[in-house]
Amino acid sequence: MNSLFIEFRDPLFGVIIFFSLIFVIALFSYWWGRFKRNEESRYLKSFMNVFDSMPTEQELKSLMTSKAISGKSALIMAQTYYHNGDYEKCIEIYLIMLEVQKDPNEKKETLFLLGQTYFKAGFLERAQEIFLQILKQFPRTPKALRYLLIIYEKMHQFDKALEVLEPLDELGINNTKDRIYLQAISIIRSPKFSVEQKSQHLLGLYKEHHLLSYLIFEYLFRFTPKLAWENLDMGETERLVDLLWNAPDAEANLDIIHSNSYLRELFSAKGVELVVQESTVFEFDVLIKLNIADQSGATLQFDYLCGECKQIYPFSFHRCPNCHSIDSVVTEILLTKDHVEAHHSLQ
Ligand SMILES: [Zn+2]
Repeated sequence: MNSLFIEFRDPLFGVIIFFSLIFVIALFSYWWGRFKRNEESRYLKSFMNVFDSMPTEQELKSLMTSKAISGKSALIMAQTYYHNGDYEKCIEIYLIMLEVQKDPNEKKETLFLLGQTYFKAGFLERAQEIFLQILKQFPRTPKALRYLLIIYEKMHQFDKALEVLEPLDELGINNTKDRIYLQAISIIRSPKFSVEQKSQHLLGLYKEHHLLSYLIFEYLFRFTPKLAWENLDMGETERLVDLLWNAPDAEANLDIIHSNSYLRELFSAKGVELVVQESTVFEFDVLIKLNIADQSGATLQFDYLCGECKQIYPFSFHRCPNCHSIDSVVTEILLTKDHVEAHHSLQ
């Protein structure tokens, strides 16, 4: 018995106990960690399942009325579907939210999101009904008025769009650009005027306000190029670079081209007439050097940036498809391989 007691007091025994304790603690913490990880992944899986398989309308309704899904969770779910382009499911959720919601301000927000989703999905008439419904109850809602304005514009109901500007004016919002833009596109689409009359009206609008240079000169260069050249705003040449590059009758307007340094560089790069030997614009400079060496194979292409939201498009626009700004297009030059020349040289 005594000898056993001595063995317990042996330092080696203490060391064994110490390491055994460490082993047990390590084992327990490893097991606990695994258990927690499994729990978390189970929770994540069940959360993701909500997104994978949409509950039926009835299931969603009962989940929301029983408060199993909060209004916030439903909103996050709807927004996720919206950003993934699944507008049908997004609309379904908003409609159920509207049935469940009691607070008029909450309803107003959901109605706005519903209208925005109908608009994005291309259901313009439904979007129009929703925004009118909001404005009936809350007439001083600028964001609903703005959507209504764009909807009327897309539906070519320019008179109605101009009417929407009045309550926006009353709210103290500056709508000068919108008003001139609506006037310009209603002139362009009007069956009452001839092409010549349209050009004169557009030019009148430009001379009065100095806005919408891209929209107005695009029309002028397309249908009445002589008028466009004669009235070209030299301060806007960089913005109109793609229109000028593709402009018909450039050769007939050498006096105008010679009068402006940017035009001289642009048309030397194009090879209409080699009047300068270099340019501060890199793309022009490369093309001028190629022209001097009597070589080809390169040309210009254009990208279009929205000066407001910085989105880039391969096509020009008058109202940004993303942020709906007017007259925000910035033309960007790209030096590219000339496929026409390459094709000819192969023949
Ligand atoms: Zn934009």
